[in-house]
Amino acid sequence: MKSLYVRVVLTFFVVTVLALLSALLTGLKLFETDLNDLQQSEMVTAGQNIIRLYQQANPQDLDAFLSGTDALVSYPVQIVAASGETKIYGAEKYADPVRISQNAIDRVLAGGRYQSVVKAEGAFVGLPFSSGDEHYALFLLPSSKNEAMIIRLILTFLLLTLVFGGLYILIAARYLVKPLKLMTQATKRLAARDFNVALKMKRKDEIGTLARSFNEMAQELKQMEHMRQEFVSNVSHEIQSPLTSISGFAKALMDDKLVTEDNRDKYLAIIHKESERLSRLSDNLLKLASLESDHHPFTLAAYHLDEQLRQVVLACEPLWSAKSISLELQLPSAAKITADPDQLNQVWMNVLGNSIKFTPNGGRILLAMSRTTNGYAVSITDSGKGIAPEDLPHIFERFYKTDRSRNQISGSGLGLAIVKKIVALHHGSIHAVSTIGHGTTITIQLPEKIS
Ligand code: ADP
Repeated sequence: MKSLYVRVVLTFFVVTVLALLSALLTGLKLFETDLNDLQQSEMVTAGQNIIRLYQQANPQDLDAFLSGTDALVSYPVQIVAASGETKIYGAEKYADPVRISQNAIDRVLAGGRYQSVVKAEGAFVGLPFSSGDEHYALFLLPSSKNEAMIIRLILTFLLLTLVFGGLYILIAARYLVKPLKLMTQATKRLAARDFNVALKMKRKDEIGTLARSFNEMAQELKQMEHMRQEFVSNVSHEIQSPLTSISGFAKALMDDKLVTEDNRDKYLAIIHKESERLSRLSDNLLKLASLESDHHPFTLAAYHLDEQLRQVVLACEPLWSAKSISLELQLPSAAKITADPDQLNQVWMNVLGNSIKFTPNGGRILLAMSRTTNGYAVSITDSGKGIAPEDLPHIFERFYKTDRSRNQISGSGLGLAIVKKIVALHHGSIHAVSTIGHGTTITIQLPEKIS
């Protein structure tokens, strides 16, 4: 009962029976008058035939003659004599007993033809005829034989429609239900983490569209699963290296009682640095997760972007002056922007931080800003080591580092991913140009207002 297949077939049966019955009843109602007229005119013809035969044969015995005609017509015949004597021939053919009114009898005996009002009296006709001096009224009454035949015809038609229709729908339903069965199997495989499911369906209908959406979803899930695995492995790797370092140096400090004062300080400094690295990693991970969720607070404010950039440069001063980097600013004044100041602060810190990190002692950094049609373009150019062309398209990916070796200065590879996300949230764009050995320019375009 519960399978779709059975439901389709049962629905077909119920719908067909209901449709045929309603069609039949409506049809009969619509043609009721026509059908009755037809029946009555047939009755009149039958009656006239009987009378004509009687007059031609002119038999002595009316009763015997009428009993004989019984086999010729399919309607029951009622004879009413002027004396009031009534006789019925073929009573077994009665459908519904009709009550012939005295008025009808009188009219026919007076020589007129009577055609009943079907709705009020039932369908019958009355014809006058005379035998010698005697006047008679001959009535033809509705026949059960005819009605039974019509009902039999209708029932046979209904039954045949159900039998043939049922057969066809059994085949058609299979065609409808089969793709759904395939999809259920595919969904089960997906649930069991088998993402290599692709439904092969060329149909152009709704089921085809559903199958295509299903395939797209499976692809997406496959990609997400791949990203998840990569993410977990990256995070574990990033956590593992500082932890190994911390645990190694802590163990050395514990085991070796004879560690010199100098080495002791060195080990402790490494432990401290690696702990900070871990803390920065978890900080960045949380930030990225929060930015990627839809619930990240986004507090817009109108402020001067040039002012913010100056403050960032000032905040980083210990870093760039320690490397004797000359930092040049080309900023217009009063460049007003509506954005989230904290988030953009993070953007400038990360990008400028990278430039300082990857620029050698005595290098140069230029921080320039210009107007664009709808906002500002900020570019940070350094004279650092540059990025190889094969690395350039990937630097905004999570955990991507051009220097895969355990380089002290490299971070976790999340900085630019965070930058890209924040810029996207501000409806801006970011791109990098770099020549290995010469330097890198990172340009960020932001609209003046988020529309
Ligand atoms: P990280 O935290 O490691 O700096 P980022 O996401 O900020 O990660 O940067 C990704 C990688 O892109 C860096 O590891 C570095 O190799 C490269 N990179 C970014 N900025 C520069 C730059 N100004 N000069 C050279 N390489 C850069």
